[in-house]
Amino acid sequence: MRNRNQAWAVIALLSAALLYGPAARTQQDDFSKVQIKTTKVSGNIYMLEGAGGNIAASVGDDGIVIVDDQFAPLAEKIQAALKDLKITDKPVRFVINTHYHGDHTGGNEIFSNAGSTLIAQDNVRKRLQSGGEAGNGGSIKLEAKPAPKAALPIITFDHDVTLHLNGEDIHAMYFPSGHTDGDSVIFFPKNNVVHMGDDFVRYGFPFIDVASGGSVQGMIEAMEKVSAELPPDVKVIPGHGALSNLDDVRAYVKMLKETSAAVQKALADKKTLAQMKEEKILAPWAKWSGDFIKEDAFIETLYNSLTSRKGEFMKHN
Ligand SMILES: [Zn+2]
Repeated sequence: MRNRNQAWAVIALLSAALLYGPAARTQQDDFSKVQIKTTKVSGNIYMLEGAGGNIAASVGDDGIVIVDDQFAPLAEKIQAALKDLKITDKPVRFVINTHYHGDHTGGNEIFSNAGSTLIAQDNVRKRLQSGGEAGNGGSIKLEAKPAPKAALPIITFDHDVTLHLNGEDIHAMYFPSGHTDGDSVIFFPKNNVVHMGDDFVRYGFPFIDVASGGSVQGMIEAMEKVSAELPPDVKVIPGHGALSNLDDVRAYVKMLKETSAAVQKALADKKTLAQMKEEKILAPWAKWSGDFIKEDAFIETLYNSLTSRKGEFMKHN
C-alpha cells in the first residue's frame, strides 16, 4: 500500500495544493496534517474533503454508504468524521468506488478489513488487481501497483447497480471510456445529489487517463447525458474541488468540446503534436490550465484521445 500511496502522491499534492494553497505543498506527503472537512450537502448526504477525491456519504439508520475513500492513512479520520456527525454509530456498510485511481480507492483495504463491502464497476476491480501505468499517453505517467486482495471490490457490476438504503435508491451508473474505462456516476435521487467521480473535476483541465481506456469523447458524452437528465437544481459533487451545480458542469463540457475542436482542426490541418504545443493552440482556454494539467499536457491528452481508435468502439448499452 505504501508504494501505491507514493505513486499517487502527486495527486494528493495537487489536491492539497488546491485545497490549502501553495504553502501546503511542503507538507503534501504528510497525511497526518490532513484534516477531513465535512459539509452537509442535502438531507442525509454529506461531502467529505481531505486529500484525494471527494467522498459522498449517505448517513442514516441503515448504516453508512460512502462513495470513494481517498488514501489509506486517512481512513481512520474519515471514520471519525462520520462518527462525529452523531447520526448513527453504525459502521460504513458499503464503499462504492467511482474508478480505480489510488486517490479514490486508497482506503479500500482498511474499510474492507473493518467490515465494509466494496462495490465497483467490473473494470475497476480488474485494474486494481493488475496494476499498471496510468497516464495521458504523454508526459503524465503514474504507476499503480497491484492492490492487495482485501482492497478489491467483491461486488462488481457491468452497467449499473442500485443500493436500497437509508430510504433512498442509491444508483451507480457506468459511463464507458471517460476519465478511465471504469467510471461510475452515483445518483442520490431523493436528496437530489450526484457524485460525478473524475468525469467532472474542478482543478482546471482534467486528467484523462488515456492509458487506462479514458477518452475526452467519452467524458463529454457522459457529462452531457448526465446533465440532460438531472433536475436543474441538483447538487453536484465533483471528483475533486468544491461543491458545484449544473452550470459548472455545462461550462466544463463547453471547454472540453471547444478544446477538442481546436485539436481536431489542427489534426485536419496536418499539424504535429509538437506544432500544436509550439503554436499554443489552447491559449484561448488558458484560464483552465491548472497545477496538475497544464496546456501542453492537455494538448497531449486531446491529441492521444482523438487519434486513438478507442472512441469508435465506445458504446453505452
Ligand atoms: Zn482519477
